[in-house]
Amino acid sequence: MTRNQILQALLQEHNARRSEPLSRHTFVQVGGAADWFVNVRNADALFDLVRTVRCSGTPLTLLGAGSNVLIRDGGIRGVVLKNETRGCRRLDDDRIEVESGIRFAALARSTARAGLSGLEWAAGIPGAVGGGLPTNAGAYGSDLSDVLVAVRAIDQSGTLVQFEAADLELGYRTSRLRDGDLSDHIVTSLTLQLREGDVFASLAEIDRVESLRKANAPSGPSLGSTFKNPPDDPRSAGQLIDQAGLKGASVGAACVSQLHANYILNTDVAGACASDFLALIAQVRETVETRFGITLEPEIAVTGEEAASD
Ligand SMILES: Cc1cc2nc3c(=O)[nH]c(=O)nc-3n(C[C@H](O)[C@H](O)[C@H](O)COP(=O)(O)OP(=O)(O)OC[C@H]3O[C@@H](n4cnc5c(N)ncnc54)[C@H](O)[C@@H]3O)c2cc1C
Repeated sequence: MTRNQILQALLQEHNARRSEPLSRHTFVQVGGAADWFVNVRNADALFDLVRTVRCSGTPLTLLGAGSNVLIRDGGIRGVVLKNETRGCRRLDDDRIEVESGIRFAALARSTARAGLSGLEWAAGIPGAVGGGLPTNAGAYGSDLSDVLVAVRAIDQSGTLVQFEAADLELGYRTSRLRDGDLSDHIVTSLTLQLREGDVFASLAEIDRVESLRKANAPSGPSLGSTFKNPPDDPRSAGQLIDQAGLKGASVGAACVSQLHANYILNTDVAGACASDFLALIAQVRETVETRFGITLEPEIAVTGEEAASD
């Protein structure tokens, strides 16, 4: 059997779908189709698929919850794996190892209920921990680097490798996984150091965090916080966008939120396309740069190909 035949057999075994619209798998509900798309529900399957796809030379893209990514309208060539590995095991009293597809919200609640404190801040983040690691996901003054001990990942050659947290150079919305030499690595699990907590205090903190989010950020399909806060200015990206008069600015279905100016909303799911979002992102960057001389850097990942007609 050739490498390609082995890959085709494995894709069939895992019920891969052809031409799957990725708008179904992103929080903002836009994005063209994947050539091949597989839901991956356990760690062994993730390892097999990543290794086989990579050995065949076929392009591979991993998606978690699709909450920090904008996929262009031409979609993604090759194989897209949707990571739904959600295992979690307690290593000792206050240390856990979690599979990378587990969602922050579910993990924050389940650890709180188990009497472990340290992830309450993450309760309102809609993504998975593996998808959040490249940007060192965080909220309300805490982030993954506060609790991360070690990571297992699959490298470009399909080999399982391990890193200590310090190896990853986690910073504000950055890491070697996002901006450095490890950007081709697929994270399979994270070891987290939590601390003994009070179940009721943790659950109350989660409720507080969720209420804050409901009051200060819009719900519904969006890119979430689209830009990073600038490193050399006391104003947040949202404040700069607001002060540039861009609240409510829109291109097609993409619209800058009135409630939180760093959020770009999808106001017409049926008619939206990624090119509207890219055009509005460019407009926001240009206006803020002209007005304040500050270049906003995207927090979201942008991937995929432009549609033929773009
Ligand atoms: C409404 C809203 C609110 C948000 N609030 C916050 C917030 O408070 N704080 C915050 O930090 N973020 C926030 N985000 C962003 C996002 O939810 C987090 O970054 C999240 O953890 C991303 O996970 P995901 O599974 O959705 O990643 P995806 O969007 O699926 O992927 C993001 C990137 O990571 C890569 N990736 C995915 N999984 C892996 C893996 N296992 N190994 C290596 N690379 C991988 C993907 O290829 C892609 O490039 C918000 C987003 C939205 C839409």
